[in-house]
Amino acid sequence: MIDRSPKQVALLAAVILAILPLSTSIGVHFWKGIDFGLHTYFIVFAVAFALSYFVVLYFIEKFIYNKIKIIYKTIHRFKSGQDEKKNLNMGEDVLEKVNKDVMSWAENRIREIRDLQEKDSFRKEFVGNLSHELKTPIFSIQGYILTLLEGALEDPENNRKFLLKAAKSVDRITALLEDLDQITKIESGNLKLNKSRFDIVELTREVLESLEHKARKSDISLKINQPGQPPIMVSGDRPKIAQVLTNLVVNSINYGNEGGNTKIRFYDMDENILVEVADNGLGMSEEHLPRIFERFYRVDKSRSRNVGGSGLGLAIVKHIVEAHNQSINVRSTEGAGSTFSFTLEKA
Ligand code: ADP
Repeated sequence: MIDRSPKQVALLAAVILAILPLSTSIGVHFWKGIDFGLHTYFIVFAVAFALSYFVVLYFIEKFIYNKIKIIYKTIHRFKSGQDEKKNLNMGEDVLEKVNKDVMSWAENRIREIRDLQEKDSFRKEFVGNLSHELKTPIFSIQGYILTLLEGALEDPENNRKFLLKAAKSVDRITALLEDLDQITKIESGNLKLNKSRFDIVELTREVLESLEHKARKSDISLKINQPGQPPIMVSGDRPKIAQVLTNLVVNSINYGNEGGNTKIRFYDMDENILVEVADNGLGMSEEHLPRIFERFYRVDKSRSRNVGGSGLGLAIVKHIVEAHNQSINVRSTEGAGSTFSFTLEKA
């Protein structure tokens, strides 16, 4: 069947209905021999046509409106508080429009449900990972305390050793909570960037200095590749970019080889500056690279835990860089080393 608009249906019905009085008057004319005159036939037809048109249209409108009112009420409750009567244009195929509106409403609901399901599985995975991360240090603290209580407290050779180990586990929990706090703030949209103009070379020097002690313990040298590197002014949130550099350099130490080195290089790329943190440490095989920026993803779980990693460092780095509308990349070869590079806007 051809889909017609209510106005077209009313027009058709009005033509049919107007023919009835017209044919009656013509019938009377021939049967009874009364001549009403041509203009009378025209008036009869016009009046009957107009009346039928408006009455039919009125009833169609009322009928359709009553039928679809409930549908619109349901979908508009979720959509907007519009007056659905105003939205109905009787000159178009109303049922087709209702159909389209309901379909798009249904598609939106399906998308929302899918989003909620994704968020839910994401949340479950996150809570699962988190409890797993917390379990390890808490169990070891529990173990040390029990050992101390069961007699090691009186053993002057070991009591301090156990307490130091317990303190190390507490440090791990603290670091994990700090990273968690940060990532939660970032992901809940509370990461406010406080942008300023600063020298990235100077900031890198400060970060390297603060990590010098840690690097020395692993006999790793930290340096800016070009010794007399002139200042490079960039625009960004200085403390947050310091955090990015810190996390990358800490990783280069944690996953570096004894006697290795970490080099920071800067490249001018027209509007941006590319900062590279390269190490000659353990490296990673290709298959891990797409996933290392995910939270709690680790290539070597035991090494990461031994070096006190929370598994959140690179996720934080990525969030911060992306909040600056910049990008981060990684190249790595297993056994040869890794190079992390991110861009910054030139000031
Ligand atoms: P973690 O706290 O475990 O270091 P990150 O998010 O900082 O968490 O890093 C994720 C994983 O990526 C690490 O567990 C490690 O396996 C790998 N990784 C990160 N940086 C390096 C690097 N410079 N060299 C080799 N592997 C690295």
